[in-house]
Amino acid sequence: MTSSEFEGKVALVTGAASGIGRASALAFAAAGAKVVVVDLDQEQGNRTVELAGGEDAACFVRADVSDQQDAERMVETALSKFGRLDAAHNNAGIEIAGKAIADLPREDWDKVISVNLSGVFAGMRAQIPAMLESGGGAIVNTASALGTVALPNQAAYVASKHGVVGLTKAAAMEYSAQGIRVNALCPGVIRTPMVEEMAAHDAGFIPLMNQMHPIGRLGTTEEMGAVTLWLCSSAASFVTGQAIHADGGYTTH
Ligand code: NAD
Repeated sequence: MTSSEFEGKVALVTGAASGIGRASALAFAAAGAKVVVVDLDQEQGNRTVELAGGEDAACFVRADVSDQQDAERMVETALSKFGRLDAAHNNAGIEIAGKAIADLPREDWDKVISVNLSGVFAGMRAQIPAMLESGGGAIVNTASALGTVALPNQAAYVASKHGVVGLTKAAAMEYSAQGIRVNALCPGVIRTPMVEEMAAHDAGFIPLMNQMHPIGRLGTTEEMGAVTLWLCSSAASFVTGQAIHADGGYTTH
């Protein structure tokens, strides 16, 4: 990948006010793309725009990814502000407190599925026509290592992320021949603010997590940004419909 690979290109990243999404937005910006930063959190979203180089390099759209009209609006903003759409990272996602299925409130299930899975559907539904207009593109959907293996007491999250992997494969089958590659990013445990907070309350958390990743440590948001950028670059031109595990080996056991 050359440093000018994304010059003149436009990328849209959801959940870009924090963690993996912010790192992905900054990776696209550093590679020369204009970036549409999408999130519910306006203050931190604007901070991402600032870090990406300000208003000439990026813009913020406050949108709820689970809302189809909001998804259309984020793509319309990419087109009206920057004229095209080449790459999209559907990354916004939520977790909820762990509960076994019989104790899991139906509303909690609906909420997780609506953001983590329907949010990715809504995003792609809006992005694909714009990418076809721009002559093709690449989409990365954030799933998780839990998109291919399970954990107890996380049924909604596990099901939503398995769904993202299936939806990614379906989209790749439908659109790869038209020039849109679609892949899922499956991170292991990444040191995001949420993980740092857990670590602050439980001294054993990081050592336990380190042990669960054969590489012996947690991942960084920058590592997830780098994989996303690669998946959207010409270096990955024959990669589509894949669940790419960037998980330090978590899914090897
Ligand atoms: P994070 O909480 O740091 O960031 C998520 C961002 O998404 C937040 O800024 C939040 O405001 C935004 N968001 C939440 N709901 C939204 C909605 N409905 N519409 C728009 N924006 C919304 O999380 P993160 O750790 O960076 O996780 C990003 C993605 O990576 C998620 O899909 C998560 O499931 C996945 N993931 C994370 C890890 C990890 O260890 N951190 C591991 C595997 C997968």
